[in-house]
Amino acid sequence: MSIQVENIRKAFGDFVALDDVSLNFPSGELVALLGPSGCGKTTLLRIIAGLEQADRGRVLLDGEDASATHVRERQVGFVFQHYALFRHMSVFDNVAFGLRMKPRRERPSEAEIARRVHELLDLVQLNWLADRFPAQLSGGQRQRIALARALAVQPRVLLLDEPFGALDAKVRKELRRWLRKLHDELHITSLFVTHDQEEALEVADRVVLMNHGQVEQIGSPAEVYSQPASAFVYGFLGSANRIRGVSGPGAIAVGGQLLNTEHQQPHGQAVEAFIRPHELAIVPDHGPGLPARVQRVLTLGGLARVELEGRDELAGQTFDAELPADAPLLQTLAAGQPVRLQARAARVFAVAQGAEA
Ligand code: ATP
Repeated sequence: MSIQVENIRKAFGDFVALDDVSLNFPSGELVALLGPSGCGKTTLLRIIAGLEQADRGRVLLDGEDASATHVRERQVGFVFQHYALFRHMSVFDNVAFGLRMKPRRERPSEAEIARRVHELLDLVQLNWLADRFPAQLSGGQRQRIALARALAVQPRVLLLDEPFGALDAKVRKELRRWLRKLHDELHITSLFVTHDQEEALEVADRVVLMNHGQVEQIGSPAEVYSQPASAFVYGFLGSANRIRGVSGPGAIAVGGQLLNTEHQQPHGQAVEAFIRPHELAIVPDHGPGLPARVQRVLTLGGLARVELEGRDELAGQTFDAELPADAPLLQTLAAGQPVRLQARAARVFAVAQGAEA
């Protein structure tokens, strides 16, 4: 089922949680709504579900205005961060719940319910837990059961609000892969809310980046990562060194030094360059580059992170560079050593008028 969101606005008192949001999701996509805490992701999900009313705008499901359709008839399945499995019911009964609640004329027979529940438990690979109770399951297992329960009523849209948010990093990673695989089997249009950029980039077909109630960018993971539409998107999708300067041809001037950025910018504009740690090059102190000093070198598996502090006009700023742990350069670096910094690649964004330094 396709989902269209048109010019949605939602305020809570004076606070505008969603400010004229329009989106279009084709049927069968797995979409991540990504953004910092409080940016309006959950509110948008709740409006699509029909759990919350927008002040303005509308939601179309398969091209039809959904406002007239009650939540129950929207054929939407939910999974929340804090799964509400019924504690006093077995796994089997939890998954069967939605089917047993159907109006009598639509309700399948108990034999048919049992067949479907076992089919769903097979799908989430937990049939062996059918007789257990929620308290006897791990967090990851509970979320998979919550998903089976959401799928039981054959939703045409699946809405997941931080479904793995309460789980530890290793389980989250496993469940992400598993969700992707499940989606590839079922092709149900799915929206999932996350504030974890790695989760969004790894799992989704498309990512919607939100900030302050507005959509900053929509695109495939590769697009939003390599062609960020704004400084916010770039900064949110990975760690970055941020350096302010004045734009020139192919470089920005920072104090008396030039930082090569290979970006054509209008000259003389206040800009901010964003440089990923692996794109920050450490060069000898006698050449051109931004003056810095090595603070320490940390080796983490196959990668080394060099922490640096700025010198002279960059005093007080810190920088991170990342290079392979076997890079010969590392042997020559010692704490306190003066070096210079260049950018192998950088994204340059104009600094908005009135933005604080
Ligand atoms: P998080 O990742 O922290 O869950 P979110 O992006 O999902 O954040 P929302 O839950 O959509 O954010 O909330 C957006 C903003 O609207 C927040 O500032 C929140 O405090 C506010 N808000 C949400 N629901 C209500 C409500 N019922 N009454 C008042 N303010 C609300």
